[in-house]
Amino acid sequence: MTAQQVPVGNLHCQNDTFCRQFMTECISCSEKPDKKGFYQVELVDTILFPEGGGQPCDTGYIDNVKVYNIQRQKLAHVHYTKEPVSVGPVSVRLDWDRRWDHMQQHSGQHLLSAVLDQAPYNIETTSWSLGEKRSFIELPTSTKKMTITPELLKEVEIIVNQLIVNNVPVITHSEEANDQEARPESLPKDYVGGGHIRTVEIQDLDRNPCCGTHVLALGQLQCLKLLHTENVRGGNTRVFFLFGQRVLDSFDASFQITRQITNLLSNGQESFVENIQKLQQQNKENMKRAKRYLEQLAQFTVNDIAKALTTQKFAVMYKEDGDMEFLVMVANIMRDRQLLENNDKVVILAAGEQKAGGPIIVTGSDNDIVQKTGKVVMKVLSGVKGGGKGRWQGKAQNWDGMDKLESTLKDEIN
Ligand SMILES: [Zn+2]
Repeated sequence: MTAQQVPVGNLHCQNDTFCRQFMTECISCSEKPDKKGFYQVELVDTILFPEGGGQPCDTGYIDNVKVYNIQRQKLAHVHYTKEPVSVGPVSVRLDWDRRWDHMQQHSGQHLLSAVLDQAPYNIETTSWSLGEKRSFIELPTSTKKMTITPELLKEVEIIVNQLIVNNVPVITHSEEANDQEARPESLPKDYVGGGHIRTVEIQDLDRNPCCGTHVLALGQLQCLKLLHTENVRGGNTRVFFLFGQRVLDSFDASFQITRQITNLLSNGQESFVENIQKLQQQNKENMKRAKRYLEQLAQFTVNDIAKALTTQKFAVMYKEDGDMEFLVMVANIMRDRQLLENNDKVVILAAGEQKAGGPIIVTGSDNDIVQKTGKVVMKVLSGVKGGGKGRWQGKAQNWDGMDKLESTLKDEIN
């Protein structure tokens, strides 16, 4: 750290969490970008929070140069940009929407953990994570031998939201760090040789060492919505949550989907589940019925093939609206009816639209006639590739040569 730099712990972003634009000085900028393409820029002070305490870093601008990342290095702070910044006075601008969201989730986490930490719950938070969409706190339910019930969560949600309505003040205290004195456990091991230790207080409720940027009063959290829980790591419980604008954004997304489904089902959300279950049941029955019809159609198709084979050595069955499943069904019925046993006959099955092509199967009394027919197929139909012993399978790009196939087979197989 350059002597001129204000240490992390006493940054302007930590002392004035609502400051969005700020004048300071650029002390240095790396000559070349690093392997990832970033210049490292050192400012005297900053309103962009470096990642820490579970809170992701801010983004913003130094003059008109975008800042992608800012990191703490021991007591120092480094901004990462893709363009160089000149040494001298600079204006720093904060990406406020991102920061405001982080402040709501982080101060919210302090509040939620504080309520759970107190009687009658007495459950401490072991870790937390600020996610892009939603965040969670992890509770040591395995060592406490307890479960987090929906009733408990409902109760906690009401208490937290009441504290938000009460607009309880949030006060951040800062004192110079002294390496000789006892340090908060959460302080990073490399944070030595000066700096400041910050404590965030929710008045009359909680005091917590934390370097993050916090709201000034709980009313700024707007509201809390607890979501689901997840069991992890041998019985610990993660409780997922949203604070503030995220509650509105999440409600909006759900509401839009609800509106669309309401239009699709012509029914309100209270009957969504019943309606979808009904549709699933109907679909199951329709699928069963369709399969029965398809099997009947395959039987009739095999009847036609059997009839054709009484007058010639080969039969061609092409179904424009068929697919591989149907071809295999027909082939299996032929096998079950022993249509090609010891009689030196061959059958070509093909499916798919004229212009789009599709699967083709050659099956016959023995491998010789199957391979011979496969060769004719590849010769006559453009772009067909295939192979396989016993049952020859391939794929065609189109069925333009289908008429020619019949006449060629007449010459070469019959
Ligand atoms: Zn914190």
